[in-house]
Amino acid sequence: MELRKRSYCDQVLRVNLSSGEFETTPLPGETMPQILGGKGLGAWMFYHEQSPGVDPLSPENHLFFHNGPLTGTTAPTAGRFGCTTLSPATRTYSDTYCGGYWGQTLKYAGYDALVVTGAAQEPVVLVIDDDQIELRSAKHLWGLNISQATQRLRDELGQDWQVLTIGPPGEKQRNLAGIFNDSRALARGGVGAVMGSKNLKAILTRGSGSVKVHDPDRYQRALQLAFRAVRMSSETTLLNREGTLNILEIVNVMGALPTRNFQQGQFEAAENLSGDSFRKHNWNKDYACFGCPIACGKYTRPLEDDLVIEGPEYETTYALGPNCAIGDRETIIRLNWWCDEYGIDTISAGGVVGLVMEMFERGQIAADDLDGIEPRFGDAGAALALVEKMAKVEGCGEWLGQGVAAIAEKYPGAQPYAMHVKGLEMPAYHPNAAKGTALAYAVSERGACHLRGAPLGELFSGSADPLSIEGKAQLFRDHQADKAVWDSACLCYFPGYGMKLKELWQLVVAATGFDYPAVKDFELVGERISTLARMINVREGFSREADTLPMRNLGQPMVGGPADGHVVELAPMLDEYYGLMGWDSQGVPTPQRLKTLQLINGHDHSI
Ligand code: SF4
Repeated sequence: MELRKRSYCDQVLRVNLSSGEFETTPLPGETMPQILGGKGLGAWMFYHEQSPGVDPLSPENHLFFHNGPLTGTTAPTAGRFGCTTLSPATRTYSDTYCGGYWGQTLKYAGYDALVVTGAAQEPVVLVIDDDQIELRSAKHLWGLNISQATQRLRDELGQDWQVLTIGPPGEKQRNLAGIFNDSRALARGGVGAVMGSKNLKAILTRGSGSVKVHDPDRYQRALQLAFRAVRMSSETTLLNREGTLNILEIVNVMGALPTRNFQQGQFEAAENLSGDSFRKHNWNKDYACFGCPIACGKYTRPLEDDLVIEGPEYETTYALGPNCAIGDRETIIRLNWWCDEYGIDTISAGGVVGLVMEMFERGQIAADDLDGIEPRFGDAGAALALVEKMAKVEGCGEWLGQGVAAIAEKYPGAQPYAMHVKGLEMPAYHPNAAKGTALAYAVSERGACHLRGAPLGELFSGSADPLSIEGKAQLFRDHQADKAVWDSACLCYFPGYGMKLKELWQLVVAATGFDYPAVKDFELVGERISTLARMINVREGFSREADTLPMRNLGQPMVGGPADGHVVELAPMLDEYYGLMGWDSQGVPTPQRLKTLQLINGHDHSI
């Protein structure tokens, strides 16, 4: 199979930081139609190449960067790429995705994936310039934050390089650390800590190649249909106007906006944090990732001390705003700046601050434990002080930067209201008010996640009753398969407000020439990939016991709003979901289902 004429480079670059050696290997050609690329390729390589049970921060943990067949093409939002590893925060399989401008340069340099193994003795930068691969010393960059390191590297090598880098929290291997390409991030699961454990400060890419699609005429037709679907969507128009914050007030009305560390689902100052408010008072310019016709990103006007960010997005605003009872836009902009500038995940940072505020108000943590900070809900100064400490990894910031689960382990009294699943802090939809989303949080491979098929339409479109569990297992199962192919083809999800799976299928078939006769065959690829990720977690020792939610969701009825009195009835949704997936009662895929998905053949692995 000539993959180079099917939107692939047919090359994986492998860099062993312990030995300093590089090599390239071809893609698993016959297997590619079954795993597609992106998430599928990352999960496949993880399953076959990574030993189970390794320490996530040891040289034995690998970092898999991967793009998909659509990365670098003319498809809408085709700059997408991902990173898969064993997470230090959750010890699960963990994949995270990013827009920006790095993904397509790896492809133009000639690689579908980059696998980083081992660990360097001293800080290094990996430079990928087509087939010229080099490791350079990064001693002079260690300790620099994201924009400083990025600028210094561009000053040294040239302005045309794309830079992926970590800040001090990544260097010091904190669970909250992400990997940043300018203002865009591989944010979740502590991937920055894994990069720091390898003494890898940055990866620079530059490429002169291009992507060849299989059937250019068919691809052009599919492209027209895809762009038309994106343009005709009212949601993408809203995204352009108000960014992802366009949904904040709706989520608040539905009683699902997590407030005061999930004690409530409605925030009294929500109007102040709407996309409309930010647009009127704070934003002055759009931002678009590579190849994006939507441009949901927004730059803020400079604050009086010239501070500017790209953001804040909805998830960031929930976490650092209502979750901490902060309704002041400028404070949220400043909190967002600390996270982006030093390289930490905003969702997790807000989760930590919300938890610590509640602990302090309940008398379960003292100012002495927090370097004299007295965090109460709504206290902007305390929130800024805590986030600064996590960003600089100073004082209490050293252990706060390990995340909510680690804090609750240190202070067991906080366990009932430590808002995480499997060790990953919760996204911006209150599970008690959105039952299908609750199931997604409980089951998603990397921990609490809204991006692996959470049926958020239950809150926005009126297509399902958000407070009912009826039909939610099926809804989540279908969305999960869809999302797995989007992450494997590698497009941003937001064109999906206009494009449906059919338009994605048409693009992928034209670009790759793979024989997926109907959309349902394409969906099966998604189910196969999700199941492969589940198999990795099963191998790591996870099963039904880990598919759970915090006590606050399972046993503490919501107070106020449309979800007043609601808890999450998780067990029946889990049973139904496992049944639909062909998993046993403990959440382990059955041999029959693995065979149907062509994941095993008899007792052997077939892919
Ligand atoms: S819609 Fe937003 S996140 Fe998606 S590619 Fe465009 S700018 Fe990036």
